[in-house]
Amino acid sequence: DIRTRFCPSPTGTPHVGLVRTCLFSWGHARHHDGGFIFRIEDTDAARDSEESYNQLLEALTWLGLNWDEGPDIGGPYGPYRQSERGDVYQDVIAKLIDAGYVYEAFSTADEVKARHEAAGRDPQLGYDNFDRDLTDGQKEAFRAEGRKPVFRMRMPDEDITIDDFVRGEVTYPAGTIPDYVIARGDGSPLYTLTNPVDDALQKVNVVVRGEDLLPSTPRQVVLWRALTELGLADGVPSYAHLPLIVDERGKKMSKRDPRSNLLQYKEEGYLPEGVLNYVATLGWAIGPDRDVFTVKEFLASFDLHDVKSNPARFDDKKFRAICSDHFRSVDSGHLAELVVPFLQDRGLLPEAPSSDQMDVLRTAMPMVQERSANLAEAAEMLRFLFAGDDFAIDPDHAKKGFKEGADAVLDASVEALEALPEWTTEAIEAALKDALVEKMGLKPRKAFAPVRVAVSGKTVSPPLYESMELLGREVSLRRLRDARA
Ligand code: GLU
Repeated sequence: DIRTRFCPSPTGTPHVGLVRTCLFSWGHARHHDGGFIFRIEDTDAARDSEESYNQLLEALTWLGLNWDEGPDIGGPYGPYRQSERGDVYQDVIAKLIDAGYVYEAFSTADEVKARHEAAGRDPQLGYDNFDRDLTDGQKEAFRAEGRKPVFRMRMPDEDITIDDFVRGEVTYPAGTIPDYVIARGDGSPLYTLTNPVDDALQKVNVVVRGEDLLPSTPRQVVLWRALTELGLADGVPSYAHLPLIVDERGKKMSKRDPRSNLLQYKEEGYLPEGVLNYVATLGWAIGPDRDVFTVKEFLASFDLHDVKSNPARFDDKKFRAICSDHFRSVDSGHLAELVVPFLQDRGLLPEAPSSDQMDVLRTAMPMVQERSANLAEAAEMLRFLFAGDDFAIDPDHAKKGFKEGADAVLDASVEALEALPEWTTEAIEAALKDALVEKMGLKPRKAFAPVRVAVSGKTVSPPLYESMELLGREVSLRRLRDARA
């Protein structure tokens, strides 16, 4: 059975790269009816935070990315927090030393450099494997000097080939990777050890992660082989190194780029379906010329083999288009419920909205939903319906809406609408067209702009006649008159 994992370090906000890794790992496991594990790699006490962990949980829960084993729910191979696995690592380190895979190294960085120089090599070359075969006597002498060794993994003298889902075969020639540190002098283990050890003990067999970690993979493969020989692993896993996410200039997208913060999308009221859909397109496509799909469709077709290796560009327009598409297709009654807190935050609805208010909201939602990408935008578009006495016309929009001749338009509109026997969308439309287009001879665009801005406060609003019907005769007429004054 396939087992994949997501194993973030809880530092900073959940960013788009992290979420894509999680999504692809989750998608591959779910598509193949495998297991999906959530593990926290919190071995860096200085940088890890509980706040960051909680934000991760919030983001993943919001997106519906669920796991079968993890720090919050446990599982057969726990604990799932590395900070609680210290004993496990010490045990493995001892076994690796015993079996000769790992050795103590006493050389300082300066000594390594000096040796390279003396041999006419580039002094910046990495570690020279000098301490591989120190005798017990030599080690004792170093210890007597007060030196503390680090623990290094012995690299084999042979090519190492990784078979990657995304990049195909990648080979690292023999002798190009120095023996590397798996634990510090005080015995504290490093990522290079903890990550593969946990993957092995937690029976992970497909490792999904960002391309930036590719250089660590040949080292980890060697460790996996050792673990397998020790009976601690069932062979080297498969790998999928996901392509870089870049900005419009082709540069690696920064974790600090505001667009990178996933929780910000939640706060703006984007729908998780839309965000998930967009993130899935960063390196993968469901089919030619098709961008929009549901989670179900994603799960039915996603496989790591189809991930592309070239960099994935974060495209604001595409993000918006995909999110708008999902926003449009959601049930508008449901959306009306979802937008309530956004209206409340803006002081536009009380804590317990009346049934009249909810009726207006439900009626207006289908119109607003066509024109927004998220709930914050929808709330802004609904503002004019709930603003009451706080209604104000946006000054920028006033400038654009009230050009020359606007007063005459507003006067004529008031006159035509006052006389209406019934206040319906159709009657309002007929009266305004008659008064402004027929009688005044105005072009519709010019004629209705002042009316729209007067009534909705903006140059872009839900359909005008429907909006006026919803707003009611009294309020509509008052706004037309106020705009005139
Ligand atoms: N904790 C590591 C990170 O967040 C995990 C990398 C991996 O998936 O191997 O970068």
